Amino acid sequence: MAETQHTTSYYAASANPTPSRPPLQGRHETDVCVIGAGYTGISTALFLLEQGFKVTVLEAVKVGFGASGRNGGQIVNSYSRDIDVIERSAGAQQARMMGEMAFEGARIIRERVAKYNIQCDLKNGGVFAAFNEKQMGHLQAQKKLWERYGHTQLEMLDQRRINEVVNTDRYVGGMLDMSGGHIHPLNLVLGEAEAVESLGGIIHEHSTVTRIEQGAKPVVHTDKGQVVANFVVVAGNAYLGNLVPQLAAKSMPCGTQVITTEPLSDELAQSLLPQDYCVEDCAYLLDYYRLSGDKRMIFGGGVVYGARDPANVEALVRPNLIKTFPQLKDVKIDYAWTGNFLLTLSRLPQVGRIGDNIYYSQGCSGHGVTYTHLAGKILAEAIRGQAERFDAFASLPHYPFPGGRLFRVPFTAVGAWYYQMRDKLGF
Ligand SMILES: Cc1cc2nc3c(=O)[nH]c(=O)nc-3n(C[C@H](O)[C@H](O)[C@H](O)COP(=O)(O)OP(=O)(O)OC[C@H]3O[C@@H](n4cnc5c(N)ncnc54)[C@H](O)[C@@H]3O)c2cc1C
Repeated sequence: MAETQHTTSYYAASANPTPSRPPLQGRHETDVCVIGAGYTGISTALFLLEQGFKVTVLEAVKVGFGASGRNGGQIVNSYSRDIDVIERSAGAQQARMMGEMAFEGARIIRERVAKYNIQCDLKNGGVFAAFNEKQMGHLQAQKKLWERYGHTQLEMLDQRRINEVVNTDRYVGGMLDMSGGHIHPLNLVLGEAEAVESLGGIIHEHSTVTRIEQGAKPVVHTDKGQVVANFVVVAGNAYLGNLVPQLAAKSMPCGTQVITTEPLSDELAQSLLPQDYCVEDCAYLLDYYRLSGDKRMIFGGGVVYGARDPANVEALVRPNLIKTFPQLKDVKIDYAWTGNFLLTLSRLPQVGRIGDNIYYSQGCSGHGVTYTHLAGKILAEAIRGQAERFDAFASLPHYPFPGGRLFRVPFTAVGAWYYQMRDKLGF
């Protein structure tokens, strides 16, 4: 049965009040029709409205229903694959542009939060934690790489320093990015959606797009209505299904799971993460965690290829929580949920046009909170006719998954098993 509400997450339970938006009815005209009200869609809509475009957003369920309303809330800079890969696959000019943009998404989030006064528990500081010297070497190389593109605020943490910011004995060191940080992800997108409406944008919930009719003026169809537009932006990411078959063939939805403890005492919370930074480790299938505004531990990890919902999320994630923080072994888990992100074979986002007037961005492959905000900006620039930065992303190759739609899950799982073994054995 199709879902009609947010998943039962801590975020849905602590969401700021928000209006419910009526489904699309009848035929309407606009400049840009956006499909999907996650960060990509809402960020694009907001940039376009700020530049005077008329925008209608169609959302299948509720604003923030997808990954944007249920993620780990970690503001992680750069892309899921780093700039050295782009340097090798795309050349110096593109790498320079993408390298310069790698930290822009976090700036956009902070500007939005300040400009529209969005209450989303924004905190500064994100840590990458290393289990071994090899991973420390990778972090050092990454710091050097990012510094070449002008991002100089990173600090390496030795064992003593990492123990000051994370109270666990699992790590040998790490790297701190003070331009990273964390947010209540659903409240961020809800606040941005209100900003869209404050500028005259229209958002329809419970309005699943069933068909896009291509042409000089594309028509976007739902069961009860149509939107005729000059441009369409496809921003359905891992929840898009097969609406645009050429996008579905080159990406794979994957599930990742999150649990949230009961509120911790101030003392306990402070002893675990004294500076209130968020943390992600350097394993291939990484764990990510942080404190919520009301001092719960929000802990995520694991990947289910093909986005099947695991039967018992708590049983899957809790062992890693306890391994990291044995201090939490008697703490109750109040919420557990799963959500889908979209994996691409290169782990770089897929950006492009279908015909002249249908734009898309998808597939941030796990790290998407910052990239999707940048995506909104570059899509809006391209629609306005300034496509230089959009083209830097759009010219990256999009590969189909080996095995096609039928065998891509087992093929990818075997690859991931190999990397997991490498992490376990430390080579
Ligand atoms: C559990 C989890 C934890 C994560 N943690 C982090 C993290 O800590 N840091 C980080 O950087 N990234 C994280 N990510 C990734 C990040 O959340 C995503 O990359 C990002 O939110 C994607 O945003 P989006 O707008 O592209 O897609 P989504 O937020 O998924 O939005 C797509 C929207 O489109 C709608 N839609 C789809 N099809 C249609 C249609 N046919 N008609 C109308 N509407 C449609 C959906 O209902 C949905 O609301 C996480 C992801 C998950 C799932």
